[in-house]
Amino acid sequence: MAIQRLVEPTAPDDPIDEEVKIEISLRPTTFAEYVGQERLKKNLQLAIEAARKRKEPIDHVLLYGPPGLGKTTMAGVIANEMGVGLRVTAGPAIERAGDLASILTNLNDGDILFIDEIHRLSRAIEEILYAAMEDFKLDIVIGKGPAARSVRLDLPKFTVIGATTRTGSLAAPLRDRFGHLYRLEFYTPDDIQKIIMRSAKILNTQINDGAAKILSERSRQTPRIANRILKRVRDFADVNGDGVIDESLTHNALKMLEIDELGLDPADRQMLRAMYENYSDRAVGLTTIAALTGDEATTIEDFYEPYLLQIGFIERTPRGRKITPKAIKHIQKNG
Ligand code: ADP
Repeated sequence: MAIQRLVEPTAPDDPIDEEVKIEISLRPTTFAEYVGQERLKKNLQLAIEAARKRKEPIDHVLLYGPPGLGKTTMAGVIANEMGVGLRVTAGPAIERAGDLASILTNLNDGDILFIDEIHRLSRAIEEILYAAMEDFKLDIVIGKGPAARSVRLDLPKFTVIGATTRTGSLAAPLRDRFGHLYRLEFYTPDDIQKIIMRSAKILNTQINDGAAKILSERSRQTPRIANRILKRVRDFADVNGDGVIDESLTHNALKMLEIDELGLDPADRQMLRAMYENYSDRAVGLTTIAALTGDEATTIEDFYEPYLLQIGFIERTPRGRKITPKAIKHIQKNG
């Protein structure tokens, strides 16, 4: 049986409609509600204020960092604070030039176009996009063969907010079109605790400070995971208790979920163990790790590895990934 991961983009046991509804309700919509990332908020608030004074849209924004840290949420906050429309799409969804043309020509002046996974746009689409971002014009070719002709369309003044887990994969000309480039940081346990308390309130769930503190230390410093664990512990409390989440119930729920004191799940520990048993503390390539665990290499790189790097459990070397003595100690202790 495949081990279920805590970090999966969508957990398979979540009924989609209900999950989407809850997800939306938990999303902050203002800077005041958006916890942490103080530097990012300060800079963006300033940019918004200046743009408002000039009665112009804000410059294009590129947000990068591991999944679940609040990039999509921030795009919504910016649109809300600016009082403009938000159109959400993703790199893989824009396959043809026509797809992009129809999105761009349907925007209103000042609108925000959020492009998730912007590094997955094809080179051809990237080129059209960065030209449009530069001078708000779109060159399209109408017709085919000898009758084909190029037409230049005026576009509304829009702002692109791009989100990516890797800036390295973005073509330099596209990257250069972004006036604001920000890396989202992992959250402190204090900030995660605030997010958990806020989410519990929205979900109408009673949780005490001690329990929220325990969960905040096991959430991989990531708001999405914090909300996900909270929902699972809430289910556990509904079934095994009186619905109230306290310390002892939290410990029991985490034990059942097999989430250890660092927030690692069985699949993380299995990956680390496989690296250790097969390669000891020598460097091993990402594709080999993927073969050992049965995951896609990109999934490991984007979803599972960032936190393990953050807590110093693996190191990146020119010859591959290396498991650290700290991680070896942890898996020996936690099995
Ligand atoms: P990303 O786009 O970086 O993958 P999201 O913006 O989708 O991450 O965030 C995942 C979830 O985590 C959101 O639905 C939201 O509920 C929560 N979240 C993210 N950032 C924050 C924050 N700063 N404060 C409170 N909740 C947050």
